[in-house]
Amino acid sequence: MDYQKKTSTERGNDTMPAALLHQKLMLPTSIKRLGELAYNLWFSWNAEASALFQRLDSRKWEDSGHNPVQLLLTSADALQQASVDPGFLEAYEQVISQFDAYMHESTWFQTEHAKQSHIQFAYFSAEFGFHESLPIYSGGLGVLAGDHCKSASDLGVPLTGVGLLYKKGYFTQKINSQGDQQAEQFQYDFSMLPILPAYQENNQELIVHVELPTGPVALKVWRIRVGRNSVYLLDADIESNTPADRQLTAQLYGGNQDMRISQEMILGMGGVKALRALGISPSVYHMNEGHAAFLTLERLRELLDLGLPFQAAVETIRSATVFTTHTPVAAGHDAFPIGMAEYYLGPLLSKLPAYRQDLLGLGNDPKTGLFNMTHLALHTSSLRNGVSKLHGQVSRDMFKGFYGDIQSREVPIDSITNGVHLDTWLAPEWKALFDRFLPGGWRNRIADARIWESLELIPDASIWQVHQELKEKLIGFARQNLEQQRRRIGESEERAAEVRSFLSKDALTIGFARRFATYKRANLIFNDLERLKKLLHDPERPVQILFAGKAHPADHPGQEMIREIYRVSQLPEFQGKIVMLENYDMNMARYLVQGVDVWLNNPRRPLEASGTSGQKAAMNGVINFSVLDGWWEEGYNGDNGWAIGSTESQDWAVQEQENTADIYRILESSIIPLYFSSQEQPQHHPRHPWINLMKRSIQSLAPIYNTHRMVAEYTERSYLPTADRAHHFVENGYDLAIKVADYKNFIRREWHHVKIAAVHDPSADSSAAVSSISAVEKLSTLKEVTADVFFGPIWPPDTLVELIYFEESGSDWNEVVVWMQATGDLKNQTQSFKASIPSHLKHGPNFSIRVRPISSSFAHSFELPLSVSTLQE
Ligand SMILES: *Cc1c(COP(=O)(O)O)cnc(C)c1O
Repeated sequence: MDYQKKTSTERGNDTMPAALLHQKLMLPTSIKRLGELAYNLWFSWNAEASALFQRLDSRKWEDSGHNPVQLLLTSADALQQASVDPGFLEAYEQVISQFDAYMHESTWFQTEHAKQSHIQFAYFSAEFGFHESLPIYSGGLGVLAGDHCKSASDLGVPLTGVGLLYKKGYFTQKINSQGDQQAEQFQYDFSMLPILPAYQENNQELIVHVELPTGPVALKVWRIRVGRNSVYLLDADIESNTPADRQLTAQLYGGNQDMRISQEMILGMGGVKALRALGISPSVYHMNEGHAAFLTLERLRELLDLGLPFQAAVETIRSATVFTTHTPVAAGHDAFPIGMAEYYLGPLLSKLPAYRQDLLGLGNDPKTGLFNMTHLALHTSSLRNGVSKLHGQVSRDMFKGFYGDIQSREVPIDSITNGVHLDTWLAPEWKALFDRFLPGGWRNRIADARIWESLELIPDASIWQVHQELKEKLIGFARQNLEQQRRRIGESEERAAEVRSFLSKDALTIGFARRFATYKRANLIFNDLERLKKLLHDPERPVQILFAGKAHPADHPGQEMIREIYRVSQLPEFQGKIVMLENYDMNMARYLVQGVDVWLNNPRRPLEASGTSGQKAAMNGVINFSVLDGWWEEGYNGDNGWAIGSTESQDWAVQEQENTADIYRILESSIIPLYFSSQEQPQHHPRHPWINLMKRSIQSLAPIYNTHRMVAEYTERSYLPTADRAHHFVENGYDLAIKVADYKNFIRREWHHVKIAAVHDPSADSSAAVSSISAVEKLSTLKEVTADVFFGPIWPPDTLVELIYFEESGSDWNEVVVWMQATGDLKNQTQSFKASIPSHLKHGPNFSIRVRPISSSFAHSFELPLSVSTLQE
């Protein structure tokens, strides 16, 4: 029973042997390490590396969708020329030495956590957004996962990703002349992508199997290198599978519930098997969203096979698992009819008939009777978090029912606010400017706010010059996108050429791009078209808006929004001022978040868990104009952008009205006047208020809303404490896991004995006297309350006795929890406790006493949802 204790260093011999790779690419000797660059996504966040590929053949680089492997495989002539071109060779050497320096430099993790160098963390996600050339993402969740892996590499955090390799990716979006979204499928040739098969020790390609009810499915394991780390992707499209099974990893978020549950089994169970076959034994498993939660069932099966009792096995896997939930939208939490879960988990359940109900119970949502992946994840993880402070709060409300009689505030779901990977999203033009003015080594210290103070040293004219350059690049990109679209749908040459005059670099430019989920309300700004028309048409102060985004193919209201935006963009009065670009992806996202002036985001509060595109915009000096939801609720400081909406209204219609009114009002009275606040263009105007705002926005947001800060937080608040605790659970033959399981069983069985036998409140005896003292005295005097608790067979130190009261604070009531101290001896299984509280509080509705089981071996103090409270009596 010791596989978890094996040293968990990643082995180097699990990718295609070097000789094979060499044979495949046939690169000239002088530039043969281009192969290494092409197969490491490091190129995707290093502009010099991308530029090197572009230099090889810029046409092919564009046509390949910035895919270096395809480029190398199809550019034999260009490679021969480059191999003897002194200019190319010089650039090549420079990039290679940069790459080598990156791969070998000492990192944050090595410095700060040197003792943990043997540890591995596994990160499971259904989607990863690394780069436009690897289309295995649909939106923010995937891009976050990609940025997480990139920062983990930068920081030296030993993290291995696990996901699925979708043969048809997500989909390519085309918009026809009616504004209809057409979702196009493209069958990718994996031999042309920056991925390689993982190999076993015997130089065979690695295949693992997952048992579905229709039989075992074979999965080929692929490896992507992401800087120092690797991500393994599973692929069912191999010959030994049935035609139906080969489709299982065809498409991200495609198909019905059967497809979804099969994919999630492949991800979770197949992913664990792949790690085992690779000899990787993670200390901690991070489930990025509930999609990955089946990984816990595979690990449970392993332990049950080893003979561990069920509850001890659950404690063991729980102690090594962390979970991030990503959405307050109920439909975003996968749930399957229980019969469906029974059918698909059939092969597992039939091997473990004794635990059938226990296993199904882990995913049971008692309210709906469904097997819910989020419930499974909550039951099998020891630390959990939402992705912004507000989302943490919303998640605590959502899952309060899980933890018995406790306040939302106490629900053990924390938050770690999302960020973005600076090197991926910050324009190279800004990096070059910052290199000149920010302290040396700033790129490795981006989470240090002091670094960003030096922004003050940058002349306004330089800031404006970079910003305008990026805006012009965006306008060029947008015109090309529109022209291509018009040509494709068969418009006249004249109509196609017309777009070349669309959009102006002198107009205040607003961007809106994201998945077109309905709660994001992409068309909100169209609620009053007349007013919008006036805004956009002021000849002195022109305004323009760019839209982009895909709607899920099954999301018809989302597609209706695209139709509406397209229709408005075609109206003569909005021609060239409102545009809808097609096929939003990471490439387009870079142009948009770097090139607009204002980034608009107006979701229904509080449905945006975090949002990250605004963070990308912020570091590029683009100003956020957003509903106070997700990350912006904590990022907005009153002085670094604009906030839409202030009320807490849960009535969607009321919220929509208020938000719409706010959008127009703020645009008219603040944004537009500020942008055009000088007769001259900002670059001729020293200390232009807009540039000032850009600086304040970067300074206040860039150091916080980046994934270096985020991954460091995951590492220190989640991964490392979990690894430490998990280690104690498995050492000495799972001794602690068994003890914790036994302890919980005992407490569950005996808890009914626990009673609060008596409460003694001195003020209850002398209320007349108390009411005669002044209000000030009342607040400052304390009284001692005592309680007698009957414990039966339970040992009192295994419990916490708390006195809870409410303190008025402004218009709110804050809950105060006081730990009561044991006094005297245990007599007749009864123990007395005391606490001092303000004397004006009366017994009864003003305070209550609560007894809960605790243990120093619990990950948090609400691990057993049991309590006894005076309020229940
Ligand atoms: C960053 C990004 C997202 C996420 O944007 P949100 O503002 O969080 O909705 C979605 N899609 C792409 C392509 C992105 O780059």
